[in-house]
Amino acid sequence: MRYHLIPLGCQMNLSDTERIVTVLEKLGYEATEREEEADILGIVACSVRQKAIDRVYSKIHKWNEWKHGRNLLTFVSGCILPSDREKFLERFDLVFTINELPALPEMIRHYGVPTPAALTVVDAELTAPPAGDREPDARPVPAGAPMLTPAGPHGVTEDIRSGFWRVKPTYTSSFEAYVPIQNGCDKFCTFCAVPYTRGREVSRPSAEIINEVERLVKSGYRSITLLGQNVNSYGLDRRSDEIGFSQLLHEIGERTAGYPVWIYFTSPHPRDMTDEVLEAVAAHDTLANQIHLPIQSGDDKVLIRMNRNYRVSGYREVVTSIRKILPEATLFTDIIVGFSGETEPQFQKTLAAMEEFRYDMAFIAMYSPRPGAASARWADDIPQDEKKRRLRELTEVLQTTAGARNAAQVGRVVPVLVEGRDRQGYLSGRTEGRVPVRIEEPDDGNDVPPGSFLDVEITSARPLSLYGVPSGAPLLPTAADAPEQTVASVSR
Ligand code: SF4
Repeated sequence: MRYHLIPLGCQMNLSDTERIVTVLEKLGYEATEREEEADILGIVACSVRQKAIDRVYSKIHKWNEWKHGRNLLTFVSGCILPSDREKFLERFDLVFTINELPALPEMIRHYGVPTPAALTVVDAELTAPPAGDREPDARPVPAGAPMLTPAGPHGVTEDIRSGFWRVKPTYTSSFEAYVPIQNGCDKFCTFCAVPYTRGREVSRPSAEIINEVERLVKSGYRSITLLGQNVNSYGLDRRSDEIGFSQLLHEIGERTAGYPVWIYFTSPHPRDMTDEVLEAVAAHDTLANQIHLPIQSGDDKVLIRMNRNYRVSGYREVVTSIRKILPEATLFTDIIVGFSGETEPQFQKTLAAMEEFRYDMAFIAMYSPRPGAASARWADDIPQDEKKRRLRELTEVLQTTAGARNAAQVGRVVPVLVEGRDRQGYLSGRTEGRVPVRIEEPDDGNDVPPGSFLDVEITSARPLSLYGVPSGAPLLPTAADAPEQTVASVSR
């Protein structure tokens, strides 16, 4: 029997999906790339954009039509707005929050679907002596009734810490992994619905995080990203019994010392960024020289309307610290153009910030109201053409500043993590600062598999990428480095 999963949205949903895979495979299901072949179809939903929500409705519409001719179980989890939850309950067989994942086998069983693992047990029991006083099923639920696991008496906090995070993920890559360190968000930016879909911030126990990172590093993983909506507020929800983010980084740095790995974190919030966090990155070789620091806007009034809780002057202080403490670090950001009410002078301030902070990469989004977010009640009053113009102007600045920083790399030999091949057949990878590199084939004709570290001499630079030739033998992933768990297959 087979399953097919569709994670939508961000890296957090992909990471959550890796844990759903583990639960389904323990039940005996096998992955299939083809929805048509699956017995269980699941979506890990994203509520950030209307497009993603529309995709959920279109998928379930199709899947429910398939149900007339076959036995099929459908579920949805992930980021679900309260208003969508009710509608999903009418359409999907199971709707559950990600912290309820450990109860999924129960839900499937009570739904009346025999799992492959259960069928194996039944086969075994047919040849075994009668069970005698075996316990009857305690909570029968009529087949066909949609199920929603009620929240436990202690709410999400207890569930996610004691259940979901203890599920071992089935990683989708053999050399690159995401490790969740917290869930939810307390910031309530007006353009974002995450606090309503994932709830308040909950920090994962540090011992579990450190163990997962150490296990990954020892089994050969070369790139690990600590994930959270606000990674640098890690531990603030449990001040009395948990370490803070900078201490977590120190512990991870110490436990991974000497291993060939780059460890990242995303995304920090500018308000919670401290010198201690930057000093922790500087203190350990395995902590990568790359900081993602979303600015969103270069205008204080827009930042207030966004409820970002910092001013441009405060953001500038953080960037000054980054340049001082981590002079080699690349700096990435997120920006929204055309936010509700954003005037031309306000946009010009964002343009000025873009020039001042000399980003290596910026993820620039044209504002669109997100269902469930506070700003969705305000007019989306900047015309689409105007948003496009603002995006274009910011992109031009980015290309100039990032291009100049990339040009300074020409002639240097830098380590690159090989990720695969591009469409033209060149090796492709990223520097420690996550700048994409296109690499010529090594002269010796030997293959350089994904997951290898390769020293590359940078021969030319483009605005957002580098080009180079191999300089020395690669550090290959070895058999001893093989990951301990099956690599999952999920469709994107
Ligand atoms: S910090 Fe703001 S944008 Fe990020 S998850 Fe929280 S509310 Fe959303």
